[in-house]
Amino acid sequence: MNPIIIVGTGLAGYTLAREFRKLNKTAPLLLVTADDGGFYSKPMLSNAFAQRKQPAELLTQTAAQMAEQLGATILTGARVESIDTDTMTVTTSAGTFAYDKLVLAVGAQPIRLAIDGNAADQIMSVNHINDYQHFRQRISASGGASRVMILGAGLIGCEFADDLAGAGHQVTLVDPSKAPLAALAPPALSQGLRVALEARGIGLRLGTTAARIDRVDGGLTVSLADGSVVETDIVLSAVGLRPDLRLAQAANVVTGRGIVVDAFGKTSAAHMYALGDCAEYTVDGNRNIVLPYIAPLMAAARAFARTLDGQPTAIDLRPTPVMVKTPSLPLALVPPPSHAAAGGNWHETSIGEQVICRFYDENGCMRGFGVAPHEAKIRQSLLAELGSPIASAA
Ligand SMILES: Cc1cc2nc3c(=O)[nH]c(=O)nc-3n(C[C@H](O)[C@H](O)[C@H](O)COP(=O)(O)OP(=O)(O)OC[C@H]3O[C@@H](n4cnc5c(N)ncnc54)[C@H](O)[C@@H]3O)c2cc1C
Repeated sequence: MNPIIIVGTGLAGYTLAREFRKLNKTAPLLLVTADDGGFYSKPMLSNAFAQRKQPAELLTQTAAQMAEQLGATILTGARVESIDTDTMTVTTSAGTFAYDKLVLAVGAQPIRLAIDGNAADQIMSVNHINDYQHFRQRISASGGASRVMILGAGLIGCEFADDLAGAGHQVTLVDPSKAPLAALAPPALSQGLRVALEARGIGLRLGTTAARIDRVDGGLTVSLADGSVVETDIVLSAVGLRPDLRLAQAANVVTGRGIVVDAFGKTSAAHMYALGDCAEYTVDGNRNIVLPYIAPLMAAARAFARTLDGQPTAIDLRPTPVMVKTPSLPLALVPPPSHAAAGGNWHETSIGEQVICRFYDENGCMRGFGVAPHEAKIRQSLLAELGSPIASAA
C-alpha cells in the first residue's frame, strides 16, 4: 500500500500527522521536508530575543523523535522537485515515491522588496528557525548590532520590534501606513499600539518606505522615501509572505493567491490536498482567502485527519482571534471580512484600561472585533457576539 505523503514538516504538516495518528495507527505515512525536520513552534521566533533563547532551545523534538512518535518515515533534507498527478508520484532530491494521498504543507515565502542600493542584499527575513539562527549570528558578528530597522509594521514586524526592543536593541519600525497593524487592527487599537511601542523606545517611521540601502563604515544607511536617512546595523524585512505555489503550479493544480482548496481541503487534482500557509480557502462564499495563522491550520488538520481516515469532514473555519504578541500592548483581533469592511464602522468602548472595538457591517451585524489588553473570558464573550445585531451587543 502506498503511503500518505505529506510535503513539509512545519506546524501544518506535523499537526496533520499527529491528528491522523490519533485516528489511524497503521496507514503508512511519509513526511518529506527540505529542512532538517526539527519540531518548533514558529510563533516563538518573534518572542525569543527578549528571552535570550538560542535556536536549539526552541527546537523541542528532532526529526528522528518525531518519526518515532508519529510512527512515520520522515525524509529530511529532501526537496520535492515535481509531482506527477497521473502516476501519483513525487520526485524528490532523494528519489521518487508513489502516494495514495498527497498533502502539500509547503508554507509561504517572504516577499522580497525591490530596493535600490549596494546593501539591498543585506535585508534579512525570519520565517524559519534557520533564519532566526542566521539573524542571531548576524547580530553577534556585528558586535551585538544594537540598531535594527524593521520594514513592515504588520503582525510579525510589530512583534519583532517589541521583542528586539525588550532585548535592548535600538529599533526603528518603518511602514507606509499611518499606524502600526493598520490592516488588521481597529484604528483605536492601532493608535494604542503606536503609543505603546513609542513608549518602549521604538522609533516609528510611518507613512513612508525604504527606498535604498547602502553600506557605510560600520553599518548601513537606509534612505526613506520621505527624504530622511536612518543609520542602522541590520535591516529585517517583515513585509509579508506569499504562499509557495511552485510545486502546485508545475503540476497544473489550480492556484490563486494560494493553492485553491475546497471545503474539505482538496485541491483541483485527484487525491491531493493542501493546508497551512500555502492554502487558499473560500470562506462564507468569499474566495481568495489565505489564513497564515495557527488556528486555521489546526482546524484544517483536524478535518483532514478524518477525511484521510475515510470520513470526509469539512474544515470548520469559524473566526478565531489572532493574538498579537506585543508585550507593550497585547491584542486579540478578529478582523472583519474584507467584503464587509468597506461598508461598516468600528464602535469603541472602554472598561478601565481595556479597550474593546466591535465592527458592525452596513446591516448592523457584528463582523469583527479587537480588544486590548485581553484575557480568555473577554475573547470568548466577543466571539459569541459575532453575527449579532448592533442593538443586542455592548
Ligand atoms: C515570526 C512569526 C511569528 C508568528 N506568530 C504567529 C502567531 O502569534 N499566531 C499565529 O496564529 N500565527 C503566527 N505566525 C504564522 C504561523 O507561524 C504560520 O501560519 C505557520 O507556522 C505556517 O506553518 P506551515 O506548516 O504552513 O508552513 P512552514 O512552517 O513554512 O512549513 C513549510 C514546510 O514545507 C517544507 N517545504 C517547502 N517546500 C518544500 C519542498 N519543495 N520539498 C520539501 N519540503 C518543502 C519546508 O521545509 C517546511 O518544513 C507567525 C509566523 C512567523 C514567521
